[in-house]
Amino acid sequence: MASERVVIVGAGQAGGQIAAALRIAGYVGEIALVGEEIHPPYQRPPLSKAYLAGEVDVAQVLLRPAEYYVKHAIALKLGARVAAIDRAEHCVTLTTGEVLPYSWLALATGARVRPLPIPGVDDPRVFYLRTLADIDQIRSALAGAARIVIIGGGFIGLEAAAILRTLGLAVTVIEIQDRLMPRVVSPTISAFYLELHGKRGVEVMTNTGVTAIVGRGVQLTNGRTVRADAVIIGVGVVPNVELAQAAGLACDNGIVVDNCARTEDPRIVAAGDCTQHPNALLGRRLRLESVHNAVEQAATAAKTILGTPHPYAQVPWFWSDQYEFKLQMVGISTGYDSEVVRGTIANGKFSVFYYRAGKLLGINSVNRPMDHMQGRRLLGAGLSPTPAQVADAAFNLKTIVAPN
Ligand SMILES: Cc1cc2nc3c(=O)[nH]c(=O)nc-3n(C[C@H](O)[C@H](O)[C@H](O)COP(=O)(O)OP(=O)(O)OC[C@H]3O[C@@H](n4cnc5c(N)ncnc54)[C@H](O)[C@@H]3O)c2cc1C
Repeated sequence: MASERVVIVGAGQAGGQIAAALRIAGYVGEIALVGEEIHPPYQRPPLSKAYLAGEVDVAQVLLRPAEYYVKHAIALKLGARVAAIDRAEHCVTLTTGEVLPYSWLALATGARVRPLPIPGVDDPRVFYLRTLADIDQIRSALAGAARIVIIGGGFIGLEAAAILRTLGLAVTVIEIQDRLMPRVVSPTISAFYLELHGKRGVEVMTNTGVTAIVGRGVQLTNGRTVRADAVIIGVGVVPNVELAQAAGLACDNGIVVDNCARTEDPRIVAAGDCTQHPNALLGRRLRLESVHNAVEQAATAAKTILGTPHPYAQVPWFWSDQYEFKLQMVGISTGYDSEVVRGTIANGKFSVFYYRAGKLLGINSVNRPMDHMQGRRLLGAGLSPTPAQVADAAFNLKTIVAPN
């Protein structure tokens, strides 16, 4: 075992944050941060937003400038993949052949795009949307393109649709389910976004699948073929668990960790999109794909490494930007038995509060940031405003969280 060295696998949002949190807390041992992408840790949210629009460059999406890692003695090993973990010997082997002993190992391997298993996806005009390299390829393909087909009406597909439409391209979104963003938002929110994209000139087809991509044609299950100069696929992600699995760690739609980010190996923690973890506030285990979770779980993993474990207990939150509308989600919006709208859907400033048996479960807010902020406090404290209080937009929700 290395005397004092933390090896972090995955230089993404979570991996970068574990390294920084350790140094901020005064950790003096060695830190090696290994990432298979060529960039230092960066933020993915701008990839389907400002970076796709060409409004920001690589330097502006980095979590921290490259010099940060030099200054804080964090050995960045980029373009390098960890191929195997030897738990008995406490070391990892990189694809380069390098062997790194560790005293603690942190897995922050994230997720990768879910491949769409249809003929034609290997065409050079077909793209996925996960990494900086993906967006650079998409942006090159946009030059001279007029028509784009986006497969998948989830957050990422719709954010890309909004940007590309705003850039003047003809955009068609194909969604296999009966509404947009079906996994995470309620039908009320889906309907608002369906109308919004329609008004902006995006053709949205729900209840429609894709059977093949042939030349410049995207063949649909409804018999139609839509012309496309480029196709973007956004049909979800799968967690990168194979490394952990091969090392014998428990995995179940994510690397299984406890509320202190510990795997079953006392020297291995995991954080971010790759984990399946318990959430005490929601009362169940889940896997999340969000910046908030990556950052907070990274902080939890760092505390465990430092010998000061502190349980992770966070209300999940997430956001999505489409056109000038910011959608903010807190808690969960599934399994509810009633919903209450606050604000006015017609003017694009509203929130939907979800209840089960009178208990607030989650809130989706569109351009109502204060509702979102109060909602985070309410859900964090386990408080539920009454439906009448929520429906009265003049009622100050803050008075429930802080009565005086
Ligand atoms: C386009 C896009 C837009 C998004 N927008 C939002 C948003 O608006 N709001 C929000 O909250 N979230 C958003 N997300 C989700 C958010 O970015 C992710 O939840 C977050 O990046 C997860 O961080 P992570 O470090 O766990 O994983 P990742 O960011 O996936 O990083 C993991 C890294 O580990 C590397 N890796 C994997 N295996 C190995 C190995 N064996 N050896 C070395 N390296 C390895 C991977 O290559 C990757 O670079 C978005 C994601 C995408 C793709």
